[in-house]
Amino acid sequence: MAIFQQGLTWQGLARCVEADPEIFFPERGGSSKAARAVCSECPVRQECLRYALANREQFGIWGGTSERERRRLRRTQSPSRGVTLVG
Ligand code: SF4
Repeated sequence: MAIFQQGLTWQGLARCVEADPEIFFPERGGSSKAARAVCSECPVRQECLRYALANREQFGIWGGTSERERRRLRRTQSPSRGVTLVG
C-alpha cells in the first residue's frame, strides 16, 4: 500500500511501513511476490483490502491483492459482506 492518509488508525500497524514502497507498485508484468510476502505477515491485511476495495484503488498491491484481483473481488462480493482474502 505504502500510501498513508491521516485518520486511518489501522495504518499504524501496517507491515509495509518498514518495506521499500516500490515493491508495492511493480512495473506492468513485474513480480509482486515481495509485496505479497510483506502483506501475508501484516496484521491489518483485512482492513487494508477493505479500504482498497471501498476506494477503488487502481494501482499497487493492497491487502496482498493486485488491481485485477480487487476488480474480481468487487464483482463477486458486496460491500456489506465481509471480504475474503486472496491467497
Ligand atoms: S496488507 Fe500489505 S499493503 Fe496493506 S497495510 Fe499490510 S503490508 Fe501494507
